Amino acid sequence: MPETGGMTATFLPAPSAPAAHGERGSYWITTFGCQMNKADSERMAGILESMGYREASGELEADLVLYNTCTIRDNAEQKVYSYLGRQAQRKRTNPNLTLVVAGCVAQQEGESLLRRVPELDLVMGPQHANRLDVLLAQVEQGQQVVATGEHHILEDITTARRDSAVCAWVNVIYGCNERCTYCVVPSVRGQEQSRLPEAIRLEMEGLAAQGFKEITLLGQNIDAYGRDLPGITPEGRRQHTLTDLLQAVHDVDGIERIRFATSHPRYFTERLIDACADLAKVCEHFHIPFQSGDDAVLKAMARGYTVDRYRRIIERIRQRMPDAAISADVIVAFPGETDAQYRRTLALIEEIGFDQVNTAAYSPRPNTPAATWPDQLPEAVKVERLQELNALVERKAKERSARYDGRLEQILVEGTNPKDATQVMGRTRTNRLTFFPADRGDGRHWQPGDLAAVRIDAVRAFSLSGSAELA
Ligand code: SF4
Repeated sequence: MPETGGMTATFLPAPSAPAAHGERGSYWITTFGCQMNKADSERMAGILESMGYREASGELEADLVLYNTCTIRDNAEQKVYSYLGRQAQRKRTNPNLTLVVAGCVAQQEGESLLRRVPELDLVMGPQHANRLDVLLAQVEQGQQVVATGEHHILEDITTARRDSAVCAWVNVIYGCNERCTYCVVPSVRGQEQSRLPEAIRLEMEGLAAQGFKEITLLGQNIDAYGRDLPGITPEGRRQHTLTDLLQAVHDVDGIERIRFATSHPRYFTERLIDACADLAKVCEHFHIPFQSGDDAVLKAMARGYTVDRYRRIIERIRQRMPDAAISADVIVAFPGETDAQYRRTLALIEEIGFDQVNTAAYSPRPNTPAATWPDQLPEAVKVERLQELNALVERKAKERSARYDGRLEQILVEGTNPKDATQVMGRTRTNRLTFFPADRGDGRHWQPGDLAAVRIDAVRAFSLSGSAELA
């Protein structure tokens, strides 16, 4: 999951299946922000469906509207307020409408959200996602509920509703104990809480039984996985690490591919790299945010590593997996960032040759140290740096894409190309989106979940096209 990027609103698709039980009205969820939020939304949709809600055909038709919010960027936060204004107006003529704000804005604003939008029924932080049914029961008794306290996250593996029938996210650790000076996540998502490997494996087995083929293990800082769990090995190291988890879930039958995100360069180990190289289902794609190419800026961000350490991680990955794709997150125009420091970020992107980079200009977030620093940079500098950076990221992505030209790639089919119904789309193991004709040439069509060998004949910065070869 990007730490700084991906701030688009996600709308759960139009209704497909009727409610599992009973009839309680319809719901609509709009999700802002990162993969953690998307995974939470899927679980909350699952809970609503098990309560008897069915999905609405549109936001303005729904009896229950839930905004799962993001506070990493100001524009995502502002969008929530404008959406809420519209719903608050609806509620004035339709008192049976239930309005819920979940996610990071809810956690950050708490009760003050109720003061700002008194029509709200429920304000709930991300740690409470699995308790949506309990909280709604309180709402049904006529209460206005705010649930933002520190909460031990309950295991809930039975009700998730997934947006894809092929690829699923599985949370392995919630929260973050880091204190990056620009980031609101620790204050809104709380302390790290790792799930037990047995529970994660059980969830993956259930997903495999439902036909899912690809799992992305998720954590805000996934390399921290297990450090809050007890247990020391006979060799004296922690019993539960991400490496151990990958080894413990690798052989789940039916799962073809495993990914994980988001990695932190401070904790990314050689042992993990070696395990990824040795475990056949772990895909050769690593999302490792570097945030800045300058050591002084990294120190001000409290990231806990140097540019050199980052380089060594990438070198080691490429020694063991020469074709590995590397993606990252970067922030430019951090408070006090000089032109020379910014140029070092560009130089690092040039040197590493990333397959994809989520870029952001720094934006001050409430309750974070960097927001209070006096040396904030002007908007014009932010815009200029971001534009130059984006052009470089695209040029390097295109250079990286060129290596696929003419190659035979294994593609896991995810569905139909929304822009061309004669094509299907899927991803390479290295996570490049790839399009090819749906018609197999043997009277059948490629289906979601199929693995196809595709000869690539067109490369673009962030996607590929080709045609499948039948064995
Ligand atoms: S590692 Fe840093 S940037 Fe990532 S979630 Fe934790 S505090 Fe935020």
